[in-house]
Amino acid sequence: MKVLGITGGIGSGKSVVCQLFLALGIPVFDSDREAKACYGDVRIQELVSNSMGENLFPDGKLDREKLATIVFSDKQKLEALNGIIHPEVALKFDTWAAEQDAPFVIKEAAILFETGGQQRCSKTALVTSPQHLRLSRIMKRDGVTEEQVRARMKNQWSDEQKRKLADFEITNNEELPLIPQVKAIYDEMLLLERD
Ligand code: ATP
Repeated sequence: MKVLGITGGIGSGKSVVCQLFLALGIPVFDSDREAKACYGDVRIQELVSNSMGENLFPDGKLDREKLATIVFSDKQKLEALNGIIHPEVALKFDTWAAEQDAPFVIKEAAILFETGGQQRCSKTALVTSPQHLRLSRIMKRDGVTEEQVRARMKNQWSDEQKRKLADFEITNNEELPLIPQVKAIYDEMLLLERD
């Protein structure tokens, strides 16, 4: 199955872009949602608590704040957590992709190049937006402060780093129309040989 990886910084508009691909009949796998769903699995809960060194599921539900405090202050712990969650999500993706009947599928992920995820994609597209738009969108969408958005941005690569690895770029600056950009990538994907 041909896979288009779609990534971009927080608030760049990945989900909006994916909705347009969905409208063209392309199935979308939301890696971030699937990663969050992993924490409901008791086996994963045990693995995470053991590797973080404390029980992070006191009442069966993840203490997100506690986990964030641990991993954002300890790179090794962040890597250990990624080492648990990413293979799970990759497995779920493979199973899901094999069930799809479409010319190609999309893997949407906030961090793709950061984890080497592009190696499992036929092509990748980076969604970019000016920083001020990303900040104001997320403050409005999630009801958080500018500092909180900036803290989340710190854990992601810059657009300059990601641009070097991306096959396509989608500019979501609220001036350039998105639909023709999405359609051009859709057409290119159809021309690709099947994997
Ligand atoms: P995250 O990484 O947090 O999941 P994302 O990259 O998926 O973010 P979206 O959720 O698609 O970003 O967009 C963030 C917010 O900005 C949403 O509320 C969305 O409706 C809005 N938004 C995105 N693009 C546009 C646009 N071109 N015009 C108006 N609003 C937009």
